[in-house]
Amino acid sequence: MTSVGIIGAGQAGTLAAVGLMNAGYDVTLYSDRTAESILNDTAPTGTAFIFGDTVAVERKHGVETFEDVAQPADGIHLYFNPKVGQELVQIKGELGEHAGYAVDVRLKSATRMTQLEAGGARLVIEKVTPERLDEIAAEHDLTIVATGKGDLAGLFERDPGRSVYDAPQRYLGMVIVKNIATDGSAFPNRLPGFTPVCFNFYGDIGEFFWVPFYHKTQGRCWNLVIEARTDTPLDTYRKVSSGDEMMERVREIVRTYAPWDWETMKDMDLVDDDTHPWLRGAFPPTVRRPVAHTESGHAIWGLGDSSFAFDPIGGQGAGCGARQAGYYTDAIIERGDGPFDETFMEETYRGFYEWHGGPSYNFTNLLLEPLDSTGRFVLTSAFGDPRVSQRFFQGFNRPWELYPMLAQKDLAREWVGAAAGGSWRTANAKGTFNIIVGQLRQKTRGRHFAYDDES
Ligand SMILES: Cc1cc2nc3c(=O)[nH]c(=O)nc-3n(C[C@H](O)[C@H](O)[C@H](O)COP(=O)(O)OP(=O)(O)OC[C@H]3O[C@@H](n4cnc5c(N)ncnc54)[C@H](O)[C@@H]3O)c2cc1C
Repeated sequence: MTSVGIIGAGQAGTLAAVGLMNAGYDVTLYSDRTAESILNDTAPTGTAFIFGDTVAVERKHGVETFEDVAQPADGIHLYFNPKVGQELVQIKGELGEHAGYAVDVRLKSATRMTQLEAGGARLVIEKVTPERLDEIAAEHDLTIVATGKGDLAGLFERDPGRSVYDAPQRYLGMVIVKNIATDGSAFPNRLPGFTPVCFNFYGDIGEFFWVPFYHKTQGRCWNLVIEARTDTPLDTYRKVSSGDEMMERVREIVRTYAPWDWETMKDMDLVDDDTHPWLRGAFPPTVRRPVAHTESGHAIWGLGDSSFAFDPIGGQGAGCGARQAGYYTDAIIERGDGPFDETFMEETYRGFYEWHGGPSYNFTNLLLEPLDSTGRFVLTSAFGDPRVSQRFFQGFNRPWELYPMLAQKDLAREWVGAAAGGSWRTANAKGTFNIIVGQLRQKTRGRHFAYDDES
């Protein structure tokens, strides 16, 4: 029987492990922590909201999706502000079949580790070192490294042709909070009756957003992510050392920069029964080479954040890792008895990169940059026609629908025209009109705009 060793019990590694076990492979999962320790002694590595197609991948490979208990995010709403105080554009869209879930990754890992043990896979609790990895790779027909962004990921060389950045683009913060309704009543000013992902984008200071979340013990609640540009007024939590202090900063940020949501969120507080309900930190968004070699020359394969590390701004990292796990699992099954050599690893990766990984990474990076004229054209058109904004947000589930479209004006015009069921000109003209009206309203409130539409 083909034996597969997987290092790392995060959401990507455990998905591949269960998928391969269910397909009859001899699977060993190496984790530096027990399931109990992941649940109780760590913070989630991120919000890890995944869209509908990724949930389908989880379902296909036989892991618990928590769809029966978690609250789906069934829409997305965005306030786009060129600068603080310039509340310019609101766009929104229902997600429909693209709706997804943010389930605590600690719960996913622990549940799947239990499933693996019950299903006959081996679970080895050890912190794998490069020396041990050499031995593990010698023992298995295929060895996959899914240890997240740090640690063994460093064995996989950064791909300089594909990695756009060599430094972090935002300083990130995350808190998991209670006391905000998850039944569709919380944000009537955004998408009434829905429980949407609520984005706030500011051209000058960064972004922050809230996502309905399923917590490991508290169930339905919300997860807030802050993305601060360096040395801006949002960049206030680099040195916080406790959850309470972090919560203080987050409250201040919401009260100051998203007054439209403050009434709903004023009583929020950290969830109970969690020693690690918050995060802060930064990393450069990175694409790594798919294959590395151990000391003795065994080829090893990167997966999840060890392969692609995304800024969370577009909610793509966990989704990409899970889709990659599903894609690799399918490719392994298709390959039958092997060989699972370097050529197989490289070619499988190439297919994944072209289909999903590349568009997802490049789309995410566009969101980190100032809007160029193509981005402004799409945003304006989305403001002019709800069908365009709906299709835009649904595209987060299938990032190849948004990239390279968002980077090429002719493709963007074609895409807007198709989304609007006719010509791009009407949607764009309506959006431009809406912006002018918004600017006039803002002027009467004594504020100023610096947003130029060029279609
Ligand atoms: C603030 C924030 C918000 C985010 N929001 C989203 C979002 O909404 N949507 C989205 O798609 N993505 C999001 N992401 C990204 C997402 O959370 C990650 O991409 C995802 O959780 C990574 O999963 P992983 O399995 O690749 O790695 P990890 O979750 O890092 O798992 C790696 C595992 O390997 C173990 N390990 C490490 N070293 C070793 C070793 N040497 N030996 C054995 N085990 C080891 C670790 O303990 C861990 O259990 C967000 C990220 C952040 C920071």
